[in-house]
Amino acid sequence: MRIQAVRMQPVRYVNFARFAERFGGELQAVMSGVVASGVYVGGDELAAFESAFARFCGTAHAVGVANGTDALELTLRAWGVGPGDDVVIPANTAMPTALAVEHAGANVVLVDAEDDTGTIDVAAVRVALTPATRAIVPVHLYGHPADMDPLREIARAYGVHLLEDAAHAHGARYRGGANGRDRRCGALGDAAAFSFYPTKNLGAIGDGGCITTDNAELATRLRALRNNGLAANYDHPVLGFNSRLDPLQAAILRWKLARLDAWNARRAELAERYANGLAGVAQLSLPVVRSWATSVWHAYPIRVRATAQSGVRDALARALLDDGIETNVHYRTPIHLQSCYAGRWQRGDFPVSERRAATMLSLPLDPFHTDDEIDRVIDALRRYVAAL
Ligand SMILES: *Cc1c(COP(=O)(O)O)cnc(C)c1O
Repeated sequence: MRIQAVRMQPVRYVNFARFAERFGGELQAVMSGVVASGVYVGGDELAAFESAFARFCGTAHAVGVANGTDALELTLRAWGVGPGDDVVIPANTAMPTALAVEHAGANVVLVDAEDDTGTIDVAAVRVALTPATRAIVPVHLYGHPADMDPLREIARAYGVHLLEDAAHAHGARYRGGANGRDRRCGALGDAAAFSFYPTKNLGAIGDGGCITTDNAELATRLRALRNNGLAANYDHPVLGFNSRLDPLQAAILRWKLARLDAWNARRAELAERYANGLAGVAQLSLPVVRSWATSVWHAYPIRVRATAQSGVRDALARALLDDGIETNVHYRTPIHLQSCYAGRWQRGDFPVSERRAATMLSLPLDPFHTDDEIDRVIDALRRYVAAL
């Protein structure tokens, strides 16, 4: 009887309700502390989170901002990237990567993805460079780092900025540096933009974002840009923005940051459970992890083989949903096929991204899912895929 009842529960894509049940009391205490402090913008809580997050990433500075899109845009603006400049981004990403470039006034240059990891194709980046290129923005998609060493070589050789879109990659690691220790995403370019949107691996109770960098001058410029351009002596040397990270969110984020490695480890456990449970299913391709990467599994992106049409994937997603299993697609429409860009690019321009968009399916993955829930997803998938 009891097992029956449990089986009826839906498997959420992410499980905020379970998080709230478990940690709501502790979070209320954190929030009460901020209320009692009487400091509601800036202040010690923000500074404490920024230094904790910089330490976590292994950078000298972290600058909190209102969201991840702003983190990207303000960094481009702080570098003076704008009209007449090209910025190279992957076609296989979320719209905010492109929007940040657009809102900075620069020109979006798209490149295709690697077929297996889905991250930016480094060879295609080389081809896309022009004399107008000022920045490259690789995305550590699904929590798997982009291949940063060759990208850094390209950026150095051409004198362009390298900005990580690390919205999926809080805590992910890339191959060892000079001292042989793996480095975290956020410390692999000239700067990195993080989002703390609630569904991200480190998520706020609302919106938030942050830039990490070793460059003190960039950090100072960003601190002014996020705060109306305010510098010393009430002077505003640049036209800035209101893009601040609230101390309330900063306090929650600092509380969560202390637990992030454990939650990411749980994500990795569940990813391994999927990998074992779905091994040998001929119709599915499972996510690939490079030998030099430690993914933080923001998503578990499988692909439905033997089709370039989205119909089979969508039928599979519908069947799972009828079974109470929520899934997601990252991303259903690549940047170049978004209708806001109608006429600028064509279907067929970035075939790998298009194929992934039609065939990929992100399975439920949340540190608070139970092993049984993952097994239920595996069983249902095996059943439906056999009928494809
Ligand atoms: C979430 C996300 C962003 C933007 O973050 P917001 O905080 O929602 O502005 C940027 N890039 C990628 C890849 C994302 O997934």
